[in-house]
Amino acid sequence: MEKRTYKKWIVLVPFPEQGHLTTMMQLGQALHLKGFSITVALGESNQVISPQHFPDFHFVIIPESVPMSLKKFGPAEFLKNLNKTSEASFKECIAQLLLQHDNDIACIIYDDLMYFSQYAAEEFKIPSVRFSTVSATHQVCGCVLSKVNAEKFLVEIKDPDVRDKLVENLHPLKYKHLENLGMGPLEPFLEIFREIGSRKVSAMIINTASFLESSSLSWLQQELGIPVFPIGPLHITASVNSSILEEDMSCIEWLNKQKPRSVIYISFGSQAQMETKEVLEMAWGLYNSNQPFLWVIRPGSISGSEWLPEEVSKIVSEKGYIVKWAPQIKVLEHPAVGGYWCHSGWNSTLESIGVGVPMICRPFHGEQKLNAMYIESVWKIGVEIEGEVERGVVERAVTRLLVDEESASMRERALVLKEKVKAAVRSGGSSYNALDEFVNYLERK
Ligand code: UDP
Repeated sequence: MEKRTYKKWIVLVPFPEQGHLTTMMQLGQALHLKGFSITVALGESNQVISPQHFPDFHFVIIPESVPMSLKKFGPAEFLKNLNKTSEASFKECIAQLLLQHDNDIACIIYDDLMYFSQYAAEEFKIPSVRFSTVSATHQVCGCVLSKVNAEKFLVEIKDPDVRDKLVENLHPLKYKHLENLGMGPLEPFLEIFREIGSRKVSAMIINTASFLESSSLSWLQQELGIPVFPIGPLHITASVNSSILEEDMSCIEWLNKQKPRSVIYISFGSQAQMETKEVLEMAWGLYNSNQPFLWVIRPGSISGSEWLPEEVSKIVSEKGYIVKWAPQIKVLEHPAVGGYWCHSGWNSTLESIGVGVPMICRPFHGEQKLNAMYIESVWKIGVEIEGEVERGVVERAVTRLLVDEESASMRERALVLKEKVKAAVRSGGSSYNALDEFVNYLERK
């Protein structure tokens, strides 16, 4: 038998939301394929995935975690509470695991938002690895924000001259791009960025590819002084079944009946909330654009309304198809899909880039605004809808993306990125090598 030179077990600590969870499970899958055994630590009240989908993984429970329902009192408060209350119980959890796994734990890999994990790693002298399910550029912004004087920054950022200033050595980032990085008002999140930034981790893994964000990656590596491994997009190398909601496959049959590249797919991920008025404007704009559309509307995602207003259902029934949750990757790679109207969540962005589909961006919160800026201005593979969503604006954006002359060049650039992604994840590519380098790094630890 081949001699194993590295420790066997890796403990993963995911954040229990769709975008975060899926990517962490993909990472687990990728590392499992490299020969590691995987233990996933889930909060007692936040067990949102089905262990039976991962028969090769071991699952443990972190007792007394804070239920996700408390998020309604504010995401920042929720995060602080979750981290405070999980610290001691996670230490106990790791103590048990060390006994069970014969001290054979190679590292703890935790989602950035589960920063309590670092204390257990420190106490038991286990290497700790931060895992970013968002872009490297978001990490750069988090790093900058972790060091600002909160009081001063919150005043200065209101000044239009400061807002438009480039952040030193970080072209094309402007100060205004730092403002939306919390889920809501920035102030309570500054403390969270500080907490995340103050943890002394051993390394960082990012679900990105180096060609997408090379300058942000170099900056991070230098600033943090630890190895940074860009090993994505993980959905291509290690696909897993971790959908929290049931996927409605009927939309694939509907897509099969549409012309090539004619459909606009609309989905705003697992968290975004819309107003009824906005949904109505979207429906009219889509209808007026004359393009067929496939629209994901999650139950409860329209504020103050259980399901679709009657008027929207009527408009949609003529040219569109609605599902509550789609098999998104299958949809995006379907030949009938010509464009994706997204919220610019990082996973959705990578999924669209991976199949060469250009995007309309309508960011809601967090890092989405930053991703939208990259999609429109850096990679030039989409257009951003800014300000109020109004039917004329929607119609124009859909036409720009699918019909106008500029749509061809956007598509061309998107297809170039798709090829670069393929090259990055195949044997010898940058992401492929980064994963190997991470495994070698653990061997040396
Ligand atoms: N997703 C899906 N079906 C849908 C809508 C979204 O499977 O109908 C998946 C999508 O493929 C992506 C994740 O949900 O992997 C959303 O993650 P993202 O980071 O884009 O946004 P978030 O939900 O975190 O805002």
